[in-house]
Amino acid sequence: MSQTSNRVDVGIVGGGPAGLMTALLLKRRGISAAVVERRSHGEIRRTQRAGILEAPTVDMLVEAEVGSRVLTDGHEHEGTVLSFDGVQHRIDFQELVGRSVWLYPQNEVFHDLATAWEREGGQIHWSVQEVGVHGVDSDQPSITFLDAQGQAGRIEADLIVGADGSRSMCRRLIPEDVRTDYFTTYPFAWFGILCDAPPTAPELIYANSEVGFALISQRNESVQRMYFQCDPETKPADWSDAAIFDHIQQVLGGPDAVNLKRGPIIEKTVLPFRSYVCDPMTFGRLVLAGDAGHTVPPTGAKGLNLAFSDVRALVPRVEEFLTGLRQAAEAEADAPASTAPLERYSRTTLDRVWKAQNFSYWATNLLHRQPGENEFAQRRRRGEFDAITGSVHGQAYFADSYTGWSAPSPN
Ligand SMILES: Cc1cc2nc3c(=O)[nH]c(=O)nc-3n(C[C@H](O)[C@H](O)[C@H](O)COP(=O)(O)OP(=O)(O)OC[C@H]3O[C@@H](n4cnc5c(N)ncnc54)[C@H](O)[C@@H]3O)c2cc1C
Repeated sequence: MSQTSNRVDVGIVGGGPAGLMTALLLKRRGISAAVVERRSHGEIRRTQRAGILEAPTVDMLVEAEVGSRVLTDGHEHEGTVLSFDGVQHRIDFQELVGRSVWLYPQNEVFHDLATAWEREGGQIHWSVQEVGVHGVDSDQPSITFLDAQGQAGRIEADLIVGADGSRSMCRRLIPEDVRTDYFTTYPFAWFGILCDAPPTAPELIYANSEVGFALISQRNESVQRMYFQCDPETKPADWSDAAIFDHIQQVLGGPDAVNLKRGPIIEKTVLPFRSYVCDPMTFGRLVLAGDAGHTVPPTGAKGLNLAFSDVRALVPRVEEFLTGLRQAAEAEADAPASTAPLERYSRTTLDRVWKAQNFSYWATNLLHRQPGENEFAQRRRRGEFDAITGSVHGQAYFADSYTGWSAPSPN
C-alpha cells in the first residue's frame, strides 16, 4: 500500500485538550507539529466531560489565542456548595484564596482549540486507525496510521508526544523495567445525566447523604449536568428519568433542601473511577502529557486542568531539547542528544500530579459513601466534613486545592 509521509519537529498522538494545546503552543515557538486523532471532530465535540476550569487554564486559552469564548460564554464561579445530610455550607473561593473557577464545558474547549489549530493550517488527521508509534528508543521516531480514507500515513519527527488519554497506548512504550504504574480503583462510579432544564442552582453543589453522593452542575441556561454515585456495573437504561430525579432529590433533601429543576434527560452515562500515575512520563524520544500520564477521579475537577499544566511545563522543555538536538547536529557530535530537559519535565510535573492525586482521592472519599460501610465510618466522615466546613482553615484548604495551585513557570 502506498504511504504518504511527512516530517515535522514533533508528532502528537491524540487530539484532545492536551494534544491540541501542545500543538498550538509549540507553533507559537516556531516548532512544527502534526496530530493524529482516532475519533472524528464531531464525536469529540459531542462527548460531555469536564466543566470546571481553573484560572491558569482559562489564561492559557486566552494567551494561546484560541479565542475569548471562554470569557464571554463561560461562567465565573466564586464559590461552591458542600452539602452533608441536607445542610449546606458555601465555600467562598474569592474570600478564602482570592481565586475563582470557570464553568466552560470541555467540548467547547476542544472546539476552540481544534478551530484555532485548523484555522492556522495546523496538520491534523481525524478518524485515524491502526496507529503505531515506532523508534522512541532511537533518534528517528515516527507515527504510522491509516487515515479516514484508509490511506497509509507516516509522520517522522524528532520527538513524539503521547497525549492519547487514560487508555494510552503510548505509555506502554515505556519499558516495564523503566516504568512504574501507580493506581487505585474505587467501588463506585458516577451516573451522569444531561437534561433540558434551567439551572437548579447558580453554583455547583457537592452533596453527601445517607443514600450517597450527587453533584449538581450546569452547562448553560437550558441544559443541566448532574451526577450521582452508583455501582460501576449499573446499566443506564435500567434507570427511568423519574427514578433518577427522585434519587438526586433524595440526596439533596434535608434542612436546606433544594428543589431540582427537572426536564427531559438527553444523555445517560456511567463513568468508572480510577486514580493512576505513570512514572516516569518520558522515555527516549517519547513524552506523555495529560490523562496518558495520569488519571484522577472527576470529583476534584482536576484532570483537564492538570493536562493543561503539563503542557505549560512541557513546551519550554521540548524547545530546549530540540535546541540541544540542533546544536549537537551542527557540531556533528557523536553523542546522542541529551534528553535531560524531558526528564526534568517528568520530575517537576509528577510533583504537581501527586498533589492533585491527593486532593482528588481525598475529596472522593470525603464525599462518597463506601458500599456497606458501618456507622463508625459514617460518623467519622461527618466529623471530617465538619472539620472542613466549620473552620476557615479547613475551608481554605478545600478552596486552595479546588481552584488550583499557581501555574508552572512558562520558561
Ligand atoms: C465526567 C467527567 C467530568 C470531568 N470533569 C472535569 C472537570 O470539571 N475539570 C477537569 O479539569 N477535568 C475534568 N475531567 C477530566 C478531563 O475530562 C480529562 O482529564 C481530560 O479530557 C484530559 O485531556 P487529555 O487530552 O489528556 O485526554 P483526552 O481528552 O482523553 O484526549 C485524548 C485523545 O486521544 C485520542 N486517542 C486515544 N488513543 C489514540 C490513538 N491510539 N491514536 C490516536 N488518538 C488516540 C482519544 O480519542 C482522545 O480524543 C472530567 C472527566 C470526566 C469523565
